[in-house]
Amino acid sequence: MAEQAADRSPRRAAPRRRAVVDHALQRRAALADLTAGRSDRLEACDASPYLQRAAERLGVRTDRPCPVCGRQPLWEVLWVYGDAVGDADGTARTAAQVGALARERPDFAVYRVEVCRACGWNHLVETWRTGTPGTPPARRSRRTAADP
Ligand SMILES: [Zn+2]
Repeated sequence: MAEQAADRSPRRAAPRRRAVVDHALQRRAALADLTAGRSDRLEACDASPYLQRAAERLGVRTDRPCPVCGRQPLWEVLWVYGDAVGDADGTARTAAQVGALARERPDFAVYRVEVCRACGWNHLVETWRTGTPGTPPARRSRRTAADP
């Protein structure tokens, strides 16, 4: 399989991405609901202190202004999910850390989230999986009782 030429990430050591989902439509709908008064600003701008700290410590500042308050540029932070990442499951990571994890553990999910550090707006921007299709994820020794 050829490398994805569509990867716009200029960061070096970017992990291979597959099953990429762009959440721009949902983001646009959420903003439209907010503008039309169909949703509450407190609801849309509900970034937790944990998310705010993750954006500050591990995220990157973008050139895009916040679509809600317009006062600050948005920050983006990556979160990793999956059994393959072990204790890192559900934690924020830098792009370099995601790259390192992807080389070590081939199959896990990455969520790119945008956050406004002024008003608390946050939304999922993009999700993808690392690794190669068909690559079995590295499993932890955690057992599931799902199979009878
Ligand atoms: Zn804002």
